[in-house]
Amino acid sequence: MAQLSRDDEAFGALMGVEDAAAKSATLVHPVAGTQRVALADADGRVLAEAVRAGIDLPPFANSAVDGYAVRFADLAQEGPTRLPLAGRVAAGVDAAGSRTEGVAVRIFTGAPMPSGADTVFMQEDVVEQDGSVSLPAGLKRGANARPAGEDIAVGEPALPAGLRLRPQDVALLAALGFTDVVVRDRPRVAIFSTGDELTEPGRPLGPAAIYDANRSLLRAMVARAGAEVVDLGILRDEPRELARRLSEAAGACDLILTSGGVSTGEEDHVKAALAAAGSLAFWRIGIKPGRPVAMGMVGKAPLRTTPFIGLPGNPVAVFVTFAFVARPLIARLAGTAWRPPQALPVELGFPYRKKEGRREYVRVSLAPGADGMPVARKYERDGAGVLTSLTRTDGLVELAEPLTRIEAGALAPFYAYDGLIG
Ligand code: AMP
Ligand code: MG
Repeated sequence: MAQLSRDDEAFGALMGVEDAAAKSATLVHPVAGTQRVALADADGRVLAEAVRAGIDLPPFANSAVDGYAVRFADLAQEGPTRLPLAGRVAAGVDAAGSRTEGVAVRIFTGAPMPSGADTVFMQEDVVEQDGSVSLPAGLKRGANARPAGEDIAVGEPALPAGLRLRPQDVALLAALGFTDVVVRDRPRVAIFSTGDELTEPGRPLGPAAIYDANRSLLRAMVARAGAEVVDLGILRDEPRELARRLSEAAGACDLILTSGGVSTGEEDHVKAALAAAGSLAFWRIGIKPGRPVAMGMVGKAPLRTTPFIGLPGNPVAVFVTFAFVARPLIARLAGTAWRPPQALPVELGFPYRKKEGRREYVRVSLAPGADGMPVARKYERDGAGVLTSLTRTDGLVELAEPLTRIEAGALAPFYAYDGLIG
């Protein structure tokens, strides 16, 4: 953390983003409960136990194309082969009775290979005439045929415990004949907004009031992170009330998230409330937008303790810190291995100056440059409160801690929004 010196002087130590995620992961344990869910409800759930294939996939050798099945041994060593056409096998038809010696069998995609046949010619390559077919030279043994168990063989590991199921995983389970799977219970995540200026949408807006955007943001992000949302509303900027509501919430959930009130202003009471209701582990992370993020526990050992993350107030800072700090922790609570979002290098279409020792995320849109490759354009109004900077852009560019000057044309990691909220 040697590079943090400049911010150290001004504000005291900043914690690196990875250190914060690692440290907070040590403070929480995966939820213990499991349940059996139907496949229709399995997407996004976390597998509680590893799954093995109970059958071969595909269960029988079959044709990958519409065409003609033959025994490779019946083909001429050189040049085309003419074989009489005998029999026809469509998908779903048992081919056990078909003769294959010295003949070609008409076959369709997904139909079982008649026994003895090992190779399929695509219909486009074959001329059928007067009850026989002319087969071109050059095909390899086994071409266009899919052996039993080619995809996955009976007994092989199919999916690991701790995997958060995606549509393709659910498809594999279905193909293997499963009707349901055992998954972990979803962690319950309580969310609060804090601030005397906040108004619930649908109510009249007072002179100094704004509508609460963060709870809607967090409800959606928490749900997409695979947790159950416990929406606890808006908290006033009143330290005793804050501490009391945090303590009440702790019994009913596995994690408490708040937004706002974690800075150093006189009306920022969340850290004090956390210290009163439990303990503060750290509160400053080297991330922009977002620097103030309070992490700690509500409740005091040896009694039950519940992890707590106090996110900043500005909506863009909430988005960024949720994506990079809260999501890894929710993943751990959910019992799944955290896979950091994937970034791809893109060319920057703008120069940038930043402070050393903190990681900055810049909202950008991608557009093709002169050579057709994507170039990142920075959104002009880049304040941490500007929500349209998130709605009108494609993702975030990451500028690493040691950087201070970045020139246009440099490459930087780009995170598409989809990967940050999945
Ligand atoms: P704070 O950290 O509480 O001082 O909040 C920083 C900024 O974020 C202020 O301009 C707040 O009005 C704004 N803010 C805080 N919470 C919310 C919220 N739930 N929805 C929209 N803006 C908020
Ligand atoms: Mg506030």
